[in-house]
Amino acid sequence: MTSLSDLPLRENLVGLRPYGAPQDPVPVSLNVNENTHPIPEHVAIDIVQSLARAVTGVNRYPDREFMELREALAGYLGHGLEANQIWAANGSNEVLQQVLQAFGGPGRSLLSFTPTYSMYPLLASGTDTSWIAVERPADYALTPEAVVEALKEYRPDIVILCGPNNPTGTPLERDVIEAAYDAFDGILIVDEAYHEFDAERESAVTLLPGRPRLLVSRTMSKAFAFAGVRLGYLAADPAVIDALRLVRLPYHVSALTQAAATAAVRHADSMLATVADIRAQRDRLAAALAELGYVVHPSGSNFLLVGGFADPDATFEALRAQGILIRNLSIPGHLRITAGTESETSTVIEAIRALGPGGARS
Ligand code: PMP
Repeated sequence: MTSLSDLPLRENLVGLRPYGAPQDPVPVSLNVNENTHPIPEHVAIDIVQSLARAVTGVNRYPDREFMELREALAGYLGHGLEANQIWAANGSNEVLQQVLQAFGGPGRSLLSFTPTYSMYPLLASGTDTSWIAVERPADYALTPEAVVEALKEYRPDIVILCGPNNPTGTPLERDVIEAAYDAFDGILIVDEAYHEFDAERESAVTLLPGRPRLLVSRTMSKAFAFAGVRLGYLAADPAVIDALRLVRLPYHVSALTQAAATAAVRHADSMLATVADIRAQRDRLAAALAELGYVVHPSGSNFLLVGGFADPDATFEALRAQGILIRNLSIPGHLRITAGTESETSTVIEAIRALGPGGARS
């Protein structure tokens, strides 16, 4: 077998490691911020019926423009959005990749504020876009002043603001988005993958009118409990959608994905019915860990970044040995934990309590 170093790999991919959150079949899996509740049975039945109808037509390519799904997503987002302002792909990862293919590339740059979602630099390398990481302050919260200063200094072509931010959970303030948009001439993406968990805050889609360089990305993978289907989407000016059409592969959203996602959006209320409970579990987890002496960062999402672990690697492994998977992101002293069902949350709280002050040590 040949090894990777024997191949004529593109230079900017040499030495990189693929995105690799562990995928262990453990009883309590709280490491990739999924909604751990199964989808409601009546919705599953309706989706299966929609899939059955779609399957009979799969000898033909699907609707390349997936208009029915785009109309459904526009209706779900509301605020007068129309289908020609909506785009979708196989997860918001693919949506973001298409944005970088269209607006990034050699000689162009992508800037974001770290720690943030680990796929952004990988999407940059994959599209030969240079990656600019600007560190967040100690409390991880962005201010208009700090963001404007960074954009004026680095003059990036693309900026991603993740709100709530993964992996810190930090909410994103509206005045930061407005200031960022005005501070440079490039493409501003607001990644709202976790927006439904922070729904008191107005979505950045309300900032779209008059801002043709603003793109708001969303996903059905988190609150919508639909990670396995792979459906992410974006709202922007119709001209942006025209740009993405230049780089997408034809028929990239399969007939089955279109059918399943359109049916799921029809049942948005039922699909999102677990959000209140997940938020309650997040708050219960936060209170319990704070009481145990850990530092819990404020979160507007379905996960918590928790500091105060004496040895995060040892705690990660100790929990994994008990069938509990959380996320070790190499942030000193920190681990990230997704809020699960009531019983999953109780299990993780009790397991961390049993490890004693500061967690496990190797
Ligand atoms: N953005 C953020 C901030 C995320 O955390 C994730 C998934 N972890 C994604 C985008 C991508 O999600 P998906 O491709 O499943 O839509």
